[in-house]
Amino acid sequence: MTAPLPIDDARRLVLAHARPLSAEEVTLAEALGRVAAADATAAVDLPPFSSSAMDGFAVRAADTPGTLKVAGESAAGRPAPVAVSAGTAVAISTGAVVPEGADAVVPVEETTEADGGVSVGGVSPGANVRPRGGDVAAGAVVVARGMRLAPAAVAALAAAGVPAVSCACRPRVAVLSTGSELRPPGAPLAAGQIYESNGLLLSAQLRTAGALASVREPVPDDEEVLRRALAEALEADVLLTSGGVSVGPHDLVRRLLAEAGVEEVFWGVAVRPGKPLFFGTRGTTLVFGLPGNPVSALVGFELFVRPALEALQGLATPGPSFRPGRLLSPLRRDARRDQLVRALSRAAEDAVALEPLTGQESHMIVRAAAADALVLVPRGEGELAAGDTVSYLSV
Ligand code: AMP
Ligand code: MG
Repeated sequence: MTAPLPIDDARRLVLAHARPLSAEEVTLAEALGRVAAADATAAVDLPPFSSSAMDGFAVRAADTPGTLKVAGESAAGRPAPVAVSAGTAVAISTGAVVPEGADAVVPVEETTEADGGVSVGGVSPGANVRPRGGDVAAGAVVVARGMRLAPAAVAALAAAGVPAVSCACRPRVAVLSTGSELRPPGAPLAAGQIYESNGLLLSAQLRTAGALASVREPVPDDEEVLRRALAEALEADVLLTSGGVSVGPHDLVRRLLAEAGVEEVFWGVAVRPGKPLFFGTRGTTLVFGLPGNPVSALVGFELFVRPALEALQGLATPGPSFRPGRLLSPLRRDARRDQLVRALSRAAEDAVALEPLTGQESHMIVRAAAADALVLVPRGEGELAAGDTVSYLSV
């Protein structure tokens, strides 16, 4: 292994190879979590007409306060056939068209029935009227290119009359677990066997990253079987392997990837857990060889695979998105490697408080499952003290 790369250098190399995939039209019902490949602009002014913010009476503000003749009704979806002229009002519902001539709405609570009409309180011009285009004007950007569509963005596009949005295709990702010791959960274990968990781990992470996972049958550390499985899996946009990428005699993944035409970009990152991580490319296919230890695979995914998937989807700001928090207990630094320490976060008075968990070894997936944060402990001498501000990733 050449000198392991610092995390930032490795991330830069990954992102340099992750160009956005081609775009497709996506209907709004399917658009949640997708990334806009182009600016999506409003088809109409929103609101499309001057409308009432209240149930009440549409009036000329200059006529108020006073007693007015009721000339008609404007309900939602059923505009009044009449205009408001001096001395008259039109009964109006929330969301209904403010009739010609009216410039304000008096809420019903500020009116009383009067002989031959309605007595209304005083209002200023514009009161309780939502101007046409007050939210967005036709042609203006509703969702900018590179934004991930959250629930409100999907609703905003619908409201602005946009039925579908151009989004980068979801990355198709093959997942291949390797290791002769791996058995499916629930099967009886023979001597030396363990249950396979990385396939499920990675497919779950892929789902939250907006990718389409294709989880392959796990393969033993057998050259022939692995060679065949890699050849098939390399058809995807991204290949994730787990295990077999270190320096042991049964670690075949790197050699067989090279044989299959995958060019190595780097092997080895100065991070704990997850040092023997491989990244390479074949054509436009990105290949990540993740270490087999489950927590190493988890961390490697968050640091490098998720940002790559974000870049493939055209996200304007690929992660990882570290945030500041405050450490609750000291952590020893590693002289040569940055560490991602599993921790539990909770809201404290002025910052997010981070409590490191016990059981930080890379095989301890059950301990890691109790964490919701990965605290970055930069390499160096000594330790981080309780109370120090640190960067962490939510997981
Ligand atoms: P390796 O990277 O192949 O040297 O594997 C490192 C450790 O992770 C070993 O203890 C393996 O048994 C374990 N391991 C490898 N693959 C998996 C997997 N898919 N699920 C759970 N543990 C695994
Ligand atoms: Mg192995």
